[in-house]
Amino acid sequence: MDRAAEQGVQVRKLSDTRWTVTSGTQAGVVYTLFVEGEQVRCSCKGAEFGLVCKHAAAVRARLTEHQEVSRMIDELYGPA
Ligand SMILES: [Zn+2]
Repeated sequence: MDRAAEQGVQVRKLSDTRWTVTSGTQAGVVYTLFVEGEQVRCSCKGAEFGLVCKHAAAVRARLTEHQEVSRMIDELYGPA
């Protein structure tokens, strides 16, 4: 995952399926993203055209980090 994709955006987790990401270019603009399994859907213009926008990329990066941490914990302590 490209680290530059996260520049200028702030990712916030509301729930497992709902996230918000601030616009990297427009102050005060916040996009809501919905996570369904492997899919991350964003409400921004780019996503409407079927692009993987940086908001979705930023959420994906967080999800991947989280999975890696969970896996490390499992390896250290075994499955809960
Ligand atoms: Zn977006």
